[in-house]
Amino acid sequence: MEKQGKRRRRVVLVPAPFQGHINPMLQLGSILHSNGFSITVVHAQYNSPNPSIHPDFSFLPLPDTSSDHNILAGHLLAFVLQLNTNCKARLQECFAQVMRQQDSDDGLIACIIYDEFMYFSGETAEDLNLPSIILSTASASYFIARTALIQLKTEGQIPFPEFRSKDLIPECYPLRFKDLPIFKKLEDFLQLVNKASNIRSSSAIIYNTIDCLENSSLAKIQQQCQVPIFPIGPMHRISSASSSSLLEEDTSCMAWLDKQNFNSVIYVSWGSLALMDVKELVEMGWGLVNSQQPFLWMVRPSSIRGAEWIEILPKSLIENISKRGYIVKWAPQKEVLAHGAIGGFLSHCGWNSMLESICEGVPIICRPCFGDQRMNARYVSHVWNVGLELESELERGKIERAIRRLMVDEEGKEMQKRGKNLKERVELCTRKGGSSNSSLNKLIEMIMSF
Ligand code: UDP
Repeated sequence: MEKQGKRRRRVVLVPAPFQGHINPMLQLGSILHSNGFSITVVHAQYNSPNPSIHPDFSFLPLPDTSSDHNILAGHLLAFVLQLNTNCKARLQECFAQVMRQQDSDDGLIACIIYDEFMYFSGETAEDLNLPSIILSTASASYFIARTALIQLKTEGQIPFPEFRSKDLIPECYPLRFKDLPIFKKLEDFLQLVNKASNIRSSSAIIYNTIDCLENSSLAKIQQQCQVPIFPIGPMHRISSASSSSLLEEDTSCMAWLDKQNFNSVIYVSWGSLALMDVKELVEMGWGLVNSQQPFLWMVRPSSIRGAEWIEILPKSLIENISKRGYIVKWAPQKEVLAHGAIGGFLSHCGWNSMLESICEGVPIICRPCFGDQRMNARYVSHVWNVGLELESELERGKIERAIRRLMVDEEGKEMQKRGKNLKERVELCTRKGGSSNSSLNKLIEMIMSF
């Protein structure tokens, strides 16, 4: 794309330092790079991306002034709020550095694209008079649900009594009160959401979603926001980026999958943040074994409260697991879901995982843990109808039953058919003239116009 004698325009990306946010931001970087832009990634030192995987990008670290204490204690919201307060001055220095370089050999900064939870970047861009665009790495419906949550809180309806948990929220159909993205530290969450929802002088919002999945939520957001919104997902499909995994992928599971029958394996993953108790781990193990289906189980080290890893499992369970299962510490998830042996996904319902599964037509057993995962589960099971929700606590009999419903019963076969159909509709959106492809072209035009 680069024209001779013409310097590339530079886009500065500011991802939030979590796997589920880094992946789509770097995918976006690679999409923009292949459309002729130079890319600089300004990132936190916590969970910093590996520059060697992205040799075409420049990387600038922000200093580690946020305490690891909050991360270790699982106070992720407090960590993000602190990051936004502490990193502003350094971000200004980073921008100054990039702007100095642009005077010498580098392309002019076209704009800054920042994760909505790194809202201090929007403030800095405004101070420096630089154009900025927000990237939301969650679903569009999450934006609608957050707006409803703020309204319900103002009306005194949050926290809600248990008997209302299954009541529908009229403006968020099909979400119920229990599906709202409520965190234990509600005040911290609302503070973050209020900041993230303030689009300041940003010129647009990019969504890693697809019109055919979230048409009505996207239309509602467009009504509420004064700036264009660009649904350009699924970005993992559109971009040619290498994996931006922060943990080492155990690719040995691919050879194991090669030996399994077509459509026979259930893949299990709780993503990069969710935790589990030892009791839940044991129940999960027996549920998987008793389902009598082959399974690939990702158990992330440090994801079990009170244990290092699976050493805590009883010997008899480990023996049974080895007969029909395979455990890894971190999987090459996109490749796993694309493997013909995979017939179902037991998931915590992070948005990236949902998109990756939908793109492969793999039906899902939803077991959400926190945040937007509950509403993603509701959409999978009640809007797109490509999965079922495990609403009870993790108990071996319930897990076994859910797996058999998905992998063996007629009900599961129907979900598989709908999954394949949805996959085809998503593919159409990414082709030339499809909704995501058109949005991407408009986004690129906008960035070129800055
Ligand atoms: N992932 C992976 N290997 C794993 C588990 C997850 O590569 O073993 C990737 C997955 O493909 C997804 C991301 O990590 O892109 C997790 O993001 P998601 O939004 O699904 O959940 P989160 O980790 O943010 O809760």
